[in-house]
This record gives sequence, C-alpha cells and structure tokens, in this order.
Amino acid sequence: MSRQIIVGNWKMNGTRQDTQVLVEALVNGLPASAPDVVICPPFTQLALVQPALASSPICLGAQDCHKDVSGAHTGDISAPMLSELGVSYVILGHSERRQEHGELDETVREKAVAATKAGLTPIICIGETEDQRESGEHEDVLGWQIKGSLPDGFAGIVAYEPIWAIGTGLAATTDQIAQTMAFLRAELVRQFGEAGKAIKILYGGSVNAGNAVSVLSIPEVAGALVGGASLKADAFLSIVSAAS
Ligand code: PEP
Repeated sequence: MSRQIIVGNWKMNGTRQDTQVLVEALVNGLPASAPDVVICPPFTQLALVQPALASSPICLGAQDCHKDVSGAHTGDISAPMLSELGVSYVILGHSERRQEHGELDETVREKAVAATKAGLTPIICIGETEDQRESGEHEDVLGWQIKGSLPDGFAGIVAYEPIWAIGTGLAATTDQIAQTMAFLRAELVRQFGEAGKAIKILYGGSVNAGNAVSVLSIPEVAGALVGGASLKADAFLSIVSAAS
C-alpha cells in the first residue's frame, strides 16, 4: 500500500501568531518516518506558512479555489494564484462550502478541473447528512456526488466526510467507515474503470488522537482529513504518528 496522507483543515482559524506557533511545532515535531502530511491554513496565512515549510516535507494546501484563472470574482482566489504561493493541494466541495456557499457538484467539478490545470491536487469532499444515512440513502447520495463532482480523468483524492461526523466529536464507526469505503471503491471503479482503483480515499469526521489508529487501519482508508484536531500540534502529530 502507498503512504497514507494526513491533511489538516484549519478552516477559518489562526492569527499570524497562532499560525507561527503551530507551524513551528509541526515542523519540529514531525516524526522521521511520517506519512504524507498537508496543512491547509486560511488564504491569509498561506504566504506566512510557505517559507516556514521550506525545509520540511509538510506540503501546503488551500481550502478552496475559483474555477476561473482571473476576472471579476470579488473575494475569490484562483488556482494559479495558489500555485504561485507554493500550494500543492486544494480541498474542494467541503460540506461547509456546499452548505454556506451553495456549492453544487457541478461547481466543485469545475473547480477540480481548474485546480488540476494549475498543477494542484484536488481533495474532493463528499458525504451524506444524518437523515440520508438514517433513511439508507447514503450510498445513492455518495454515488451521485462522485458522478457530479469528479471530472473525467480525475486523478486527485476523495475525502469521505459524513456531515453528521464533522466537528461533532462523533466519528463514524469502524464498520460504517469500512462498508462505505468498500462501496466508494466499487463506485469509483464502476465510474472510472481501472483509474478508479488508484484514487485515494480519505476519511474525515471527528478524527482525533484517540481514534486515529483504528480509523487509519481500516482497509481502503488512505489517510484522514482532520479539522478540529489539526489546530492542536500534539493531537495532529499523534494522528500523523498513527498513519503508515
Ligand atoms: C472537516 O471539517 O473536514 C473535519 C473533518 O472536521 P473535524 O475533524 O473537526 O470533524
């Protein structure tokens, strides 16, 4: 199996001072045999973090990008702008963006095309609501999200993030994750053929230092997308150490 990947999504958190302290702790505390590690600070901290990672294997990621290269899009940031800042990954279609910014699968797909063109690796988030899981619709929902959000020839990463597990402290159970991962792999192969076998699938949703070992040992889990616990250096480094 290839190396796992641990992605920290800092969301809208971090003053310059917090950011400097956290990055320094991560750079200094990274274990020698670490998996691939990506941190995704807010846009405003990217230029601060980039030089601090210069001699570290930790990669820089962003939390969104626009589908266009430039133009009249107030408040947005394009993929080439991120690339110019040393960013190599971008989270797309996070449920918070789908909910708070009305992002549709089609928007996410267009952003993924733009990200890939700019040389970034897209991390596309998909996940069902609690109601959808309880009514047994989750597999249909995830299948549609894959179909709608992943562009043809997709060679990025998928993050399975059940919405009910994000920021709640209530991670999906290992059985739920294992079953859903198996479904997602089958669906990726059904929709993308042989290429679907190589798409990495991360789990996200209340991953922490206590559950990381069990989550990361589930078959098909290629790593984790971590929100809250990525803001604490000790917790994030424990998750990193639990990965292979
Ligand atoms: C996330 O927002 O992507 C996430 C997984 O958050 P948390 O780890 O806090 O549940």
